[in-house]
Amino acid sequence: MAKNSPLPPLPDAFLAGCRTLLDAKGVVDDPDEIASYTVDFWRQWRGQSPLVLRPASTAEVAGIVALAATSGVALVPQSGNTGLVAGGIPDPSGSQVVLSLARLNAIRHVDPAGDHLIVEAGCVLETIQEAARGIERYFPLSLGAQGSCRIGGNIATNAGGLNVLRYGMTRNLVLGLEVVLPDGRIWNGLRALRKDNTGFDLKQIFIGSEGTLGIVTAAALRLVPLPRETQTLWLGIDSPESAVELLTIFARELGDLVSSFELLSGFGVETAVRFLEGVRAPIEGSHPWHVLIEVAWNFTEGLGQRVETALTAAMESELVRDGTIAQSEAQRANMWRIREGQSEATRELGFIVRSDVTVQINDIPVLCKRVRAWTEAEMEGVILVPFGHVGDGNLHFNFIMPEARVAELKPILLGRLYDEVTALNGSISAEHGIGRLKRDDLERLKDPVELQLMKTLKATLDPKGIMNPGAILRAE
Ligand code: FAD
Repeated sequence: MAKNSPLPPLPDAFLAGCRTLLDAKGVVDDPDEIASYTVDFWRQWRGQSPLVLRPASTAEVAGIVALAATSGVALVPQSGNTGLVAGGIPDPSGSQVVLSLARLNAIRHVDPAGDHLIVEAGCVLETIQEAARGIERYFPLSLGAQGSCRIGGNIATNAGGLNVLRYGMTRNLVLGLEVVLPDGRIWNGLRALRKDNTGFDLKQIFIGSEGTLGIVTAAALRLVPLPRETQTLWLGIDSPESAVELLTIFARELGDLVSSFELLSGFGVETAVRFLEGVRAPIEGSHPWHVLIEVAWNFTEGLGQRVETALTAAMESELVRDGTIAQSEAQRANMWRIREGQSEATRELGFIVRSDVTVQINDIPVLCKRVRAWTEAEMEGVILVPFGHVGDGNLHFNFIMPEARVAELKPILLGRLYDEVTALNGSISAEHGIGRLKRDDLERLKDPVELQLMKTLKATLDPKGIMNPGAILRAE
């Protein structure tokens, strides 16, 4: 659909039904206001929509979905709109309605004894972390977008982030869900049980389904003990091989106290120091690679001694060129700013083509070597900036290039990277999901039996195809 041409009209009955169901704040039809819902966080992908609906209760979500099912209107659920694969952005046809969960943001129940919270889908992740801290507990899901992303989106993408090594993905933190199904029925699976073997674990099919099977309206979330002492280390190293060996040493010395183990390229670190305001190099000199390690426990003292022992073992192994332990919260924050600001800093050098792949940890060095070799040899004008959660086998290869060359180079680079990852039995999406951006790659590379099972599930739960059509799977 060409920009500025009129959008296809929505059925009158749907529009009238939504206006009756929702209050004035719940129906947004002003194109200027709609615009912020139809572009992604990095402003690289734009869709179109005639309408944004902002329900304030589960009953209102159910009412909208029932109306959409009757009228055959496609709905695109959206929470914080920080997703990186355009799953929460309507397609350019202008016929898909955005259903924002932002107003459904109450914390329904706080249970210190049962170590859980019950929250609505529109709760901002940071608010949930604070609520957990308020009862001396910890909600370990942590990512760069935590001030904006909302738990419904985190659940729908099965978000990963900085603490996966110790606490797992979002999936590991969800005890129960409330979901509005594609026919408008409400499934109340908000049980906070640790054990429930009464057949299929249905919540799992909605976690990571990117709004294609139903709309998450609330969740029961697992809490863990609050870490009271944290140690953060920064090491300069020679290679990804050294990083993998160091991971083994730290795991041996500190077990599951290691919550983050992040790899950065020397170039990425130097670029962050150059462009991010107030950022300083944690260690002196130039190093080919760096690792950022965080270790935490729920006692108040004694961790420093254990970390020193692990660091000594690492130094003796001759894998470390230089290293430091953060001595203050400011130093720790500086280290994390470098890690989390990798995309923001390297954006100063050109347009970023992003990726989010995963292989087994032992295959990380070979993947880094192969991708660097063909980027340098065959992709003139492209700068490669790899970084990521090496402790989870998850790397982001950012390819930086002039904007004018994106259309030509992006499919070649990503196609090649995804082939490389698939050959290593890895995955083209570690944590961001498939959305609309990787759908065709999924179709090309996913095991055909798995793909068919996914299509069968979609057709069974959403036979009218109204739930985020075009995300993950091609719209039938
Ligand atoms: P949205 O962008 O609104 O939606 C994402 C998907 O979920 C869409 O397909 C949408 O249709 C669907 N959806 C949203 N809400 C619902 C709902 N209630 N029910 C059903 N479907 C729904 N991701 C990581 O995993 N790890 C990281 O470390 C990480 N770091 C990031 C750093 C930055 C700076 C940014 C911008 C993003 C980062 N992300 C990361 C990606 C993003 O933050 C996550 O994917 C996050 O989980 C998306 O949440 P959201 O609320 O913004 O969802």
